Amino acid sequence: MADSAQSRLEQVNGAIALAEKEAGRMKGAAQLIAVSKTFAAEDIRPVLLAGQRVFGENKVQEAMKKWDELRAEFSGVELHLIGPLQSNKAKEAVATFDVIHSVDREKIARALKTEMDKQSKSPKLFIQVNTGEEEQKAGIAPKETAAFISFCRDELGLDIAGLMCIPPVDEAPGMHFALLEKIARENDLPLLSMGMSADYPIAIQHGATHVRVGSAIFGARDYA
Ligand SMILES: *Cc1c(COP(=O)(O)O)cnc(C)c1O
Repeated sequence: MADSAQSRLEQVNGAIALAEKEAGRMKGAAQLIAVSKTFAAEDIRPVLLAGQRVFGENKVQEAMKKWDELRAEFSGVELHLIGPLQSNKAKEAVATFDVIHSVDREKIARALKTEMDKQSKSPKLFIQVNTGEEEQKAGIAPKETAAFISFCRDELGLDIAGLMCIPPVDEAPGMHFALLEKIARENDLPLLSMGMSADYPIAIQHGATHVRVGSAIFGARDYA
């Protein structure tokens, strides 16, 4: 029991509350997204039973398969797409997710706008910023972010809620969180999706409103 998903969830919630307090922020200022990617419905169920309702997945197809079933069992689930999105999956993404964290180019923004209008649904949208300007990583470059936000808002009429980043694995995350916070402030965006298992308390110091925590709750992932 000591090492169950429920007890790890409790520990993470405790660490979030402590980080909020130490940062002088309100309790509940940072929302926990439990990242359940690669885990099966039977692994997720105990975390739902423990009361968690906000979950993150990185693949549209995988999420639909698991969450159709789990949503039928549990009410009030809020599902976040945190992985890269292809425009040919925009339809499923809009149908399945309440929040999309990975808007990072015009084609995706247009495809989402089309589907949101068609389905009369408006998932909350975050723009992913590649703060480390890593070639292999998704996200828009920091210096192009302001123009992209304007494009989404003014040309497409999309309501952008905030920004998301994944810092480079080999760098201290604090400066990336600070950069994301600065870009959000300059563009009047209230929400910040940043911080994972290894660094969510640091992200909360820097103003994270959403932390995406997977392995600290579910254990190590098996990608086999
Ligand atoms: C997998 C993933 C997470 C969670 O990572 P952990 O290190 O397991 O907490 C957070 N954000 C994104 C975008 C991810 O893909």
